[in-house]
Amino acid sequence: MPGYDVPSFVNDMFGLVHQTNIFESTPNKITVLKDSQNYQVEMNEIYKFYCEMVGFDPSDLKTKSAPELVPTFPTDAFKKYFPNGEISPLPKMMLTVPEYALKLTLDEQSRFYESSATSGNPSLIGLTQEDFDIVGESYGNVLRALVGEKNLDNLLFFNPELRYIPKSYAVPVQQKYTQMSREYHWVLKPGEKGMDLDINLVVGKMNESEQTHKSILFGPSVPLMYRTFKTLGQRKKWNLKEGFIMCGTGGWDGKKGSIQVDPIKKEDFVKSVSEITGIPISREWDSFGTTETKINFPGHYSEGIKDFVFHTPEAYTDVFVRRPSDNEILGVGKEGVLNIVTPLAFGHAGTGSIVVDDWVKLLSDDGCDECGRKGKTWQYIRRAIKSEKTGCAMVALEKLSEVAKNLVSGD
Ligand SMILES: [Zn+2]
Repeated sequence: MPGYDVPSFVNDMFGLVHQTNIFESTPNKITVLKDSQNYQVEMNEIYKFYCEMVGFDPSDLKTKSAPELVPTFPTDAFKKYFPNGEISPLPKMMLTVPEYALKLTLDEQSRFYESSATSGNPSLIGLTQEDFDIVGESYGNVLRALVGEKNLDNLLFFNPELRYIPKSYAVPVQQKYTQMSREYHWVLKPGEKGMDLDINLVVGKMNESEQTHKSILFGPSVPLMYRTFKTLGQRKKWNLKEGFIMCGTGGWDGKKGSIQVDPIKKEDFVKSVSEITGIPISREWDSFGTTETKINFPGHYSEGIKDFVFHTPEAYTDVFVRRPSDNEILGVGKEGVLNIVTPLAFGHAGTGSIVVDDWVKLLSDDGCDECGRKGKTWQYIRRAIKSEKTGCAMVALEKLSEVAKNLVSGD
């Protein structure tokens, strides 16, 4: 079957994610960013039009080497539906490779991976095999930053097995996690009424880890872990010296998939989970990622702000906090929408500089005083509310949908 030519910058993308210190910027980052932007403009008509419209030429990056020059692209361009409810042709039209060459999802029913959208409007992203592997490497880097170079002895996933979520963006992530673990289990099992949590499995593995000092990691569902540990803690406390927590994909508002509980205070979570499991708070991390970019951000808890401090893997990522009304870049201490710029963009045009629907605060632009890691740090505040999305992103989306419609009708 004919596929696509893999351009040489894809190898350089792997070079960036394989840096030993992911928090330190690399000189090669801008070169790869320029190459990936050039490729997207060349291979995608809509993206080319978009860059012309906003006056961006990828060769500008060579002379000015400034990642903020890459035009910001709205996540809404990758949503399954337009705001008016119509099915959007954009996710498919933003590809840079033929659709038939994309990697199939686990059920082989689709070539598009989906975000877990509580809103019912998921983002659809097609992944080439290389993109799929890059997602794994990027998330694997964050796991390694927490647990170190050694493989984990045991991994307990607080979510359903991958075959029950075959189109989920969790597939490349969890496949990588399993490669980095000697033993792994999904604690949610299909029961009579949906998914049941196998509590005996959780207790058994916690006891084993306590007795043998084997390393064990729990993640990612915040509401599920919180509820489980709180219940177990009424009967027993553990001393998991080699334990780790990796929260992920939100859930602090108490909502995740079919689960609906009260909002969970981060301080309550880290303190009570530490008290029950014996895992030090310094080993309870949160992580942030989006379907539209391949970047995963790790966050450790800070007693000072009673929240997680997110760190930027500067080896292959730049972040900017922007004011949505005019796209202005904001400084330390200011709040706005999060803009993620990365050279790790291949199969989908527009994924190199995404503005996500999340409201964040820039904490530092020159490293973290708490852990000493380099790079920008930021705090996740909340999802952006609708009125904060009326700025540049929505104007861009309207333009893009116009172009897409014209292309479909052949104008
Ligand atoms: Zn830090």
